[in-house]
Amino acid sequence: MGYIAIDLDGTLLNHQNEISEENIKAIKYAQESGIEVVISTGRAYFDVQNICEKAEISTFVIGTNGSTIHSKDGMKISSITIAKDRVEAIVKWLDERNFYYEVFTDKAIYTLKNGREQFQNEINRLKSTDLDEYMKELVQVAERQFDQFGYVLVDNYHDILNKEEEFLNILACSFDKKKLEEAWNQFKEYNELMVVSSADHNIEITNKSASKGLALEKLAFLMNGSLDQAMAIGDSNNDLSMFQKVRHSVAMDNANDDIKAVCTTTTLSNDQNGVAHAIYQYMENLAIKK
Ligand code: CA
Repeated sequence: MGYIAIDLDGTLLNHQNEISEENIKAIKYAQESGIEVVISTGRAYFDVQNICEKAEISTFVIGTNGSTIHSKDGMKISSITIAKDRVEAIVKWLDERNFYYEVFTDKAIYTLKNGREQFQNEINRLKSTDLDEYMKELVQVAERQFDQFGYVLVDNYHDILNKEEEFLNILACSFDKKKLEEAWNQFKEYNELMVVSSADHNIEITNKSASKGLALEKLAFLMNGSLDQAMAIGDSNNDLSMFQKVRHSVAMDNANDDIKAVCTTTTLSNDQNGVAHAIYQYMENLAIKK
């Protein structure tokens, strides 16, 4: 059995945050041919569920950068959490430095009311200036982030820490490269944490045992499958761990050059149904091998 792991933002989702008809058709075609399709994303499971319901597809879901694995019918197969005292230390550090941040649990995405306002003001301020294409795109990505499903706005971070929920992921944003780098360096020092990024303005912190790649490996193991024939499609740094685990790694045309450089192939962009294109090519190659 083959596996196809697909990232969401910048990959399966187009600029309207939707899964195109062509991509839906290709996913269903792969599934009907006996391939297991896995959506593998930094987004929370409940957010992915919402997107999949609209598209009328059901797949395995690797959520919050590998912290969770859910079956096609929504059963939780695995979850890897960050200890609460560590969450407290991270959030306190970010809070003191005025970062915009989001804390992902198994129930919601928590963010501060005033933090959200400040970040939106920052976005508005940037939009009113003369931005180059790169920054324009980055600001759009930041704004699309607010479309996530499952936000709960709170007054301060203690309201988050009071929740008796599973803490899965912390996302921090800044358009200030230096500031973001400082945060990256701060958290990568912790042995039990994993720091990745899904766009140039963010970092995402999970437990070290959680990554898209490790989750994909675990899923294949649990299903008595193998990743020998697997394909992974993605566009950014948080996809690298799954690219390392599969034979066919596919970069989106809209990915940065450093991502394309480590992949075996590049497909079309997320606005040109790059996922469908990669799936058909993969299925064709499988058929030739048979
Ligand atoms: Ca992505």
